[in-house]
Parts: sequence; structure tokens; C-alpha cells
Amino acid sequence: MSQPRPYGKRVTIVGAGPAGNWAAYQLAKAGYDAHVFEEHAIVGEPFQCTGILTSQLHKFLDITPVLVNTSTIARITTGRSAVDIPMRKENVIIHREEFDRHLGRMAVAAGAAIHTQHRVQETSATHCVVKDIKNQKTFAWRHDYLIGADGPSSTVAKQHGMWCDRQFWFGVQARAKYKNNNVIEFYPNIGTFTWIVPENEEVVRVGLLAEKNGKAIFDRFCKERGITEFLTYQGGVVPRYDPKIVTQKGNVYLVGDAALQVKATTGGGIIQSMIAAEACAEAIMTGKSYERLWRKRMGMDLWLHLKMRDAMDRFSENDWDELIGIFNKPTNKRFLEIHDRDHPKTFFFKLALTEPRLWKYALKIV
Ligand SMILES: Cc1cc2nc3c(=O)[nH]c(=O)nc-3n(C[C@H](O)[C@H](O)[C@H](O)COP(=O)(O)OP(=O)(O)OC[C@H]3O[C@@H](n4cnc5c(N)ncnc54)[C@H](O)[C@@H]3O)c2cc1C
Repeated sequence: MSQPRPYGKRVTIVGAGPAGNWAAYQLAKAGYDAHVFEEHAIVGEPFQCTGILTSQLHKFLDITPVLVNTSTIARITTGRSAVDIPMRKENVIIHREEFDRHLGRMAVAAGAAIHTQHRVQETSATHCVVKDIKNQKTFAWRHDYLIGADGPSSTVAKQHGMWCDRQFWFGVQARAKYKNNNVIEFYPNIGTFTWIVPENEEVVRVGLLAEKNGKAIFDRFCKERGITEFLTYQGGVVPRYDPKIVTQKGNVYLVGDAALQVKATTGGGIIQSMIAAEACAEAIMTGKSYERLWRKRMGMDLWLHLKMRDAMDRFSENDWDELIGIFNKPTNKRFLEIHDRDHPKTFFFKLALTEPRLWKYALKIV
């Protein structure tokens, strides 16, 4: 284990996922003594994610080393209807395990330490108790700041009264052999949300989120589409965003899935966890309110995603047909082409203004 650097305050970060590693990178760059504790032996493993993101990811870092594929067409299918939405800026499909490791390497190069096979058990504002999984010994660890980047079942959230009444979706996913035309397919009314994401012409990542019976819905979906040759399976939980969540108590912070910072429409949370990590690092460096910083950057978007999710759960087949019809109109397609789904606040109300038929749905949402 590396010795603490003589300068800078010490920050303990629990979890070496995107949120934890990105926070460690920001803080180490600024001279903080950043230590990430990760219970697994290898950062990024096991992975529980599809790894599709909007082009917004380019704003954070050069993703060349982890890029697997890109696509510029999203197809939304709702049973009876479908619309192909060309995207001016491509979606990126990344090597998810390698992505976490890449962020980890950036953090280490900036001066952070990542301690794998170390599980954080007890936490307080000043110390935590860490178990070294290799020798089964525990030790006390002092810090000036504590960041819970420990995923949806966050120990830090539980131990610091920030658990909130959290709810989860269950994700089922597989890599499978399946010939495809490099189109990203979304099925918003199968399970909670279902997708097929191309890795290349022969292999896709197929998955879904559901409140219950996810595996049965997944099996039926794959069978109906002739997806039968599975390479690997993954699964995990996705937390539902709750705008009332408290994410900072004194010098203790929650970021990423631990803070429920996930898009409720699709379950995507990587970009959101990186935004939160940057806001958290800024809050530590400047003493500003973390709550205010992250909510300013994405609070409205996450709220809109939540409201859209609630409305989508109530849509009938006819609602979906009408919506797909609206999105198929060339002017509306062009509108969607230039906006990305991470930031609905930038287009949601504008689109509703130009397309009066959308008001019915906008009113269901807000
Ligand atoms: C099936 C599925 C598909 C998904 N697909 C996408 C997608 O395509 N695009 C997208 O943007 N998002 C997707 N997501 C969501 C995305 O994976 C998460 O939002 C993202 O991983 C959150 O990052 P994080 O760092 O907050 O948490 P995590 O990635 O969960 O990292 C938390 C880390 O903390 C560690 N940890 C936990 N407790 C402790 C402890 N006590 N001590 C030490 N270490 C600990 C864990 O081992 C883990 O490494 C998907 C999720 C699922 C389940």
C-alpha cells in the first residue's frame, strides 16, 4: 500500500467504478491524497452494463482505447410501430471493463492509489474500517473526506442516513451472436426497457430492465427474434432516481449509482456518475455545496427522465403508435437527430411547442 503523500488532504473513495475512479482522477490531479478501495480483485470486473453512451462521453476524455463500435441510427420499436432516428452525433459502444480500468489508470497516473481486494466495512466522517480480503485482516483508515461511489447498494449511503426509500430495476443482459445492420434498437414497452446494441456485424449486447420476471421476459424476447447463441450473461440492479435524495452530509458524499444518479428512462448512468464525480471534486476543492453543483448540471434532466418513465409506464399501445407516428414526421425526426437523450431539458419543451400533438404527452409527463 502506498504511503500518503505529504501534501493535500486525504480522501477515501469507496468503489472503483466510473464514479469512484473519475472522482479520484479529479482530486489527485488537484493534489489531494486520493485512495480508492475496491472489493474486487480486478477493476471493472465483474461488469454489469451494456456500455452504450451518447457522444457526450467525448467531452470527458479520449475514449479511443476503449471504443468497440459506433452507431448513428437508433430504432424505437413498440410492437406495432417503429421509427428510425438518425443521429447527427454517433452513439458510442465501449469495452465496459476496460473503460473502468482506463479511468483507474488515469487516476493512478494523476497520483491516486487504488487498493483492490479491500472491502470498506464501517465508515464515519473521520475513519473507516477496511478489510484486506487477501489476508482477511481489518484495519482502521483515517480520512478528511469520504466519497461513497459504491454502487446502488451503497454501504456509505446506509451508514450515513442517505439510503432514502430506494427502488430498483433488475437488469438481465447477454452478449450474443446475431447478424445485424449496426442499428441500436430500443423497445420501450418490453419489460421496463429493452435494447439490442451492436458490437459488430455478428455480435450484439441484448438486455432489459424489469421490475420482476426479467429473465422470463428476456428469454421470450430473444426467442422471438431468433437470438439463440449466447456468449456471456450479465445481470445487475439499476436504482430509480429520487429527486429527494440527500447526497452530502458534512464531509461525506455519494456519487453515481450510490446517489441514484441514473436516467430512469433507460437505466443509463455512466455519464451521470462522471458529472457527479466532477461536481463532488469541485465541492471538496472549493467548499461549495455538492448538492447544488450536481443538481445544476443534471438535476432537471434526471427529473424529466423520471417523469417520462412514470408516463411511459402508463402509455397504451395506441399512445405508443401515435408517438411513433409523431416521431416519424420528417421535421420532428430532424429535431431528434440533433439532440441527445442525456439532456431532455434542452429539447423536450421546444419539441412540444413545435408539435402540438405532443402536448397531450407532455402534460402526462409534468
Ligand atoms: C444490465 C445493465 C446495463 C447497463 N447499461 C448501461 C449502459 O449501456 N450505459 C450506461 O450509461 N449505463 C448503463 N448501466 C448503468 C451503469 O452500469 C451504472 O450507472 C454505472 O456503473 C454506475 O457507476 P458507479 O461507479 O456509480 O457504480 P458501479 O459501477 O456499480 O461501481 C461501484 C463499485 O463499488 C464497489 N464496491 C461496492 N461496495 C464496496 C465496498 N463496501 N468496499 C469496496 N468496494 C465496494 C463495487 O465492487 C463496484 O466496483 C447499466 C446497468 C445495468 C445493471
